[in-house]
Amino acid sequence: MSIDPDFIFSANSLQDYVDCPRRFELKYLLKRDWPAEESEPVLEWEHELELGTRFHQLVYQYLSGLPEEALLASINDSDVESWFRNFLAFYRQQEFSQIFPEFRVRIPLGNYQAVAVYDLLALTPDKRLVILDWKTSRKIPRQAWVSDHMQTILYPYAALESAGNFLPQVTLTAESIQMTYVYVRHAIDNTLTFSYSAEHHTHNRSHLEQLVSEIAALELGAFPLTEEKRRCKFCVYRSLCERGENAGSLAELEAEPELDLDALLGGLDFDAQDEIAF
Ligand code: SF4
Repeated sequence: MSIDPDFIFSANSLQDYVDCPRRFELKYLLKRDWPAEESEPVLEWEHELELGTRFHQLVYQYLSGLPEEALLASINDSDVESWFRNFLAFYRQQEFSQIFPEFRVRIPLGNYQAVAVYDLLALTPDKRLVILDWKTSRKIPRQAWVSDHMQTILYPYAALESAGNFLPQVTLTAESIQMTYVYVRHAIDNTLTFSYSAEHHTHNRSHLEQLVSEIAALELGAFPLTEEKRRCKFCVYRSLCERGENAGSLAELEAEPELDLDALLGGLDFDAQDEIAF
């Protein structure tokens, strides 16, 4: 067993394990820093992440009640402004009775715990719980790929497991939960929505618990490198793994819409200090 009993899993860390067990080991167990790199693609990627972070901050400020005009006036990047306007166009069409922006929950998962950090949890007037997640990816991935993504598995599961804590007045069923990704670079047809069910919930529980036990059973040094070498081109650890020196460019990444830049860099991972404990 290589994992500290206090280790808290997240969608990002589980996705890292699924994509490449060695990346999980380097990032979360060995806590290896990224090898220093000043090459053009990495600077470009970091700039993208900064814009994504700025966009998420703007949305949080808006959902916290700051005036739209003041937020729009504060934006000094045309991409971020366009994403924010697309978000506003989407959000104005929604009707929610209660919202929980940037909301964190922590749930038990096997012998460990997991955290889910929601961009927005929202209750509709007819008591459905909508999980919303803003994506700044350039391309919208295939629904089937997103369906298998750890975020799509963990987030509805954690919402149902913890709903009694933050919505004690509502009797929530799995069928009353839905998860929607909003791809804000796109003005129209920019959502992917997933319904949820008791069957999904049972399946997700067993999948998540099995994954956690599999990870916990591995000894340090035994986490294998991914066999999908295309992943290495965009991975910050590739020099450590002797899987190439030069990073792929953003243009190359665009051709691989199903490699998630946020997950690859881990830049938007969670701060596990202040979740709502279940
Ligand atoms: S470079 Fe490749 S093998 Fe090494 S951690 Fe990254 S994805 Fe895994």
